[in-house]
Amino acid sequence: MNIDKIVILSLKHFTLSSIIEVAIPVPLHNTFDYLCDQKVSIGARVKVPFGQKKVTAIVLSHKHKSDFEKLRPVEEILDQKSLLSKEILDFLFWSANYYHHPLGEVLASALPKNLREGKPADIKKTSAHKNTLSPVTFDATTEQKKAIKSVLKSENNFHGFLLHGVTGSGKTEVYLSITQALLKKGRQILVLVPEIGLTPQMIARFEERVGAKVVAVHSQLNETQKLDAYLMAKNGEAGVVLGTRSAIFTPMPNLGLVVVDEEHDGSFKQQSSFRYSARDLSFMRAKLANIPLILGTATPSLETLKNVVDKKLTRLVLSSRPGQAIMPKVNLIDMRNQTAEALSVPLVAKMKHYLEDNKQVMLFINRRGYAPVFYCTDCDWKAECDRCDSALIYHRQINRLKCHHCGFEKMPEPTCPSCHQKTLRVLGYGTERLEENLESYFPDTTIIRIDRDTTRRKKAFATHLEKINSGEPCIIVGTQMLAKGHDFSNLSFVGILDVDVGLLSLDFRATEHLAQLLIQVSGRAGRSDHQGEVSIQTRYPNHKIFNFIRSSQYTKYASTLLKEREKTELPPYSHQALICANSKNKNNAEKFLNEVAELLNNIDIDSVEIWGPVPAVIEKKANYYYFNLYLQSINRNQLHRVIKTFYKHLEKIKVSSSVRWFLDVDPVD
Ligand code: ADP
Ligand code: ZN
Ligand code: ZN
Repeated sequence: MNIDKIVILSLKHFTLSSIIEVAIPVPLHNTFDYLCDQKVSIGARVKVPFGQKKVTAIVLSHKHKSDFEKLRPVEEILDQKSLLSKEILDFLFWSANYYHHPLGEVLASALPKNLREGKPADIKKTSAHKNTLSPVTFDATTEQKKAIKSVLKSENNFHGFLLHGVTGSGKTEVYLSITQALLKKGRQILVLVPEIGLTPQMIARFEERVGAKVVAVHSQLNETQKLDAYLMAKNGEAGVVLGTRSAIFTPMPNLGLVVVDEEHDGSFKQQSSFRYSARDLSFMRAKLANIPLILGTATPSLETLKNVVDKKLTRLVLSSRPGQAIMPKVNLIDMRNQTAEALSVPLVAKMKHYLEDNKQVMLFINRRGYAPVFYCTDCDWKAECDRCDSALIYHRQINRLKCHHCGFEKMPEPTCPSCHQKTLRVLGYGTERLEENLESYFPDTTIIRIDRDTTRRKKAFATHLEKINSGEPCIIVGTQMLAKGHDFSNLSFVGILDVDVGLLSLDFRATEHLAQLLIQVSGRAGRSDHQGEVSIQTRYPNHKIFNFIRSSQYTKYASTLLKEREKTELPPYSHQALICANSKNKNNAEKFLNEVAELLNNIDIDSVEIWGPVPAVIEKKANYYYFNLYLQSINRNQLHRVIKTFYKHLEKIKVSSSVRWFLDVDPVD
């Protein structure tokens, strides 16, 4: 990210005056002025009238004059001291500016709900941290030592590192060692993990190893817990904050290190409202605090690899698993020679072999439900969602057809709605059908299915994981929820079904993501005392991706992809922004984007290309029609200048109230 050129707004210091400028969580790009005759700090919350409502606002500055006449008075001062420090405010200003998102919404999204709603900033429940530390029973490897030393050498400077280590190579151990060293110096550590990577094991591992309070920030906490975690980070009590993407905004006065674990993971990008990438923002967070940043992964994103090439990141390598552990062997099963739709003969044979050896096996399929197609064998009628351009997925246990895009569901008809015959069948496999199929092959083996349907209930995921961690031989069937972070010690064989969708996708990032997924999933197989095995079923065994996956040469494959991106001037060799509009009436969204395109084309900056509007891949979703307009430039600053100019002239376009739209900077899909 070219972060130098974007100006950081500076804050005026506290003065006593009668007008304050505040940010309000509304989708508007301006700030608001109110009368205030009491002392109030910058960064404090105030309650103000806004239209007919009362809202929580954040004080940004004190003023003597306003451009507006009739100002309304502040209703109540909610914080006697500032809630958001200058440091965190600067970071939030920078973020709002970079993503061109309304400041009030950005500030609000950085606060826990209770604070957003104006509740007092008081800790409810202080808990002591664990004092029983588990001793480490091994020495760091030479590579680990080198990585730890390099990072600690720049403890007082901004310096970005890529910790590039194969799965199970001891990256977490490196984070833990550095964390311990920095905690001793009174620093706080922020560790970001993917949405599904924040397991109780991960939290326990930190708690057992660092002699400080560890707070976890994730969606399963209740609002009081979220508030307490936020406040303990803010007052310095928490030594370690372990959280998913929004934790990047946690105030930490003594921040000494930011870690982004599994940096390639898609969940670091927020896909609604304020569309930020916590991975990308971590650079600015570390830069403002003048501290090191570690991006850790076995499969670096192409963005990160380019940052290494450009010397914005220093690559630290962990080339092997410590001790005896070796990487799994990977082989392909050519599905063109198989009659079975899902479970090929060689796959079943390999599963039997490992199960008989008292090992666990895992099958990975990236689709939940019973079957993706529900159709008539006679007239070719297919169950489709009325509200979306998408097929309905059959879920057998609840006997429902479900749309995975809008949530619509219904009971399937007993006869074909088109030709009225009893000729309805299913086609294809989801996790549920795979589980059923496996029961017939392996009637005496425990099957554990892990997908969004089986883990919806609180603690369900944890219960499943516990069962797997007991080490009993079993078959685990799961979606990508299982692809990362989980270390199952008795898992020896992984079967990957259904990769061909990724090979055929038109998305220019599809092969990058598939390679990451295959390497990550393969990384689940085999641990300290036994080599694992991975079988991939495909109808395209000659695709070049497999040569690299088979020999675990992710980096080589990524280099070839990076060269292609350079040739075609695609990200990370160019920068993109997306303007997406939708409306119930198909014409309105497209018409709006045509006007936007015209406005953009009139802005005199040559290096920015405008492309579209084009219908979105799934054009109709929940009765709304989606269209996209793409902006692309090899020059990031010019791209952002065009967007700024666009917002300045936006009022020239009459946006029909029926059109909803948003801007996505650095979109990922
Ligand atoms: P990663 O985060 O790269 O997946 P971990 O840090 O979780 O890897 O390490 C994988 C396993 O190897 C863990 O059980 C860990 O305790 C163990 N381990 C890590 N470093 C060493 C080492 N130097 N010697 C022996 N075992 C190690
Ligand atoms: Zn739908
Ligand atoms: Zn029919």
